[in-house]
Amino acid sequence: MREIDSLDELYRDIVLDHHRSPRNSESLESPDAQGEAINPFCGDEVRIQLSVAGGRIDDVSISGVGCSISQASASLMGEAVKGKNLPEALAVLEAFRALMQGRSRSVDGAAGEIDLGDLMALEGVKRYPVRIKCSLLGWTALEDALKDLGTG
Ligand code: ZN
Repeated sequence: MREIDSLDELYRDIVLDHHRSPRNSESLESPDAQGEAINPFCGDEVRIQLSVAGGRIDDVSISGVGCSISQASASLMGEAVKGKNLPEALAVLEAFRALMQGRSRSVDGAAGEIDLGDLMALEGVKRYPVRIKCSLLGWTALEDALKDLGTG
């Protein structure tokens, strides 16, 4: 069990790091799309702004308040979708949701499994059903923003 414990620790470190130093926290001057999501349960809020060029997310801004899981997940999400085109960003969103909901991670229309990278740090959250909403909050904001762009 020792190995699993240290893996948990590593993942906790990634989540804590993103909570303490959220990435892409500066707001964009002229975003192409914006979204937000609120979790009334614990008062978590996440706002996202996207700048899109040539069908690709070339900049992202994440802001919000709330528990460490919601804010860290939003920060990790920003890193994960930056530089992706819109279908790829949607595929990451679907794959992360599937991970949290314990479904298979292969996504229709995507080439095989999506590599979630550092987002796997949040996998342990699915053991705590009340926190799953927290971890998905930023992703709801992303979906909101992608709708702005006519996808999703
Ligand atoms: Zn929360």
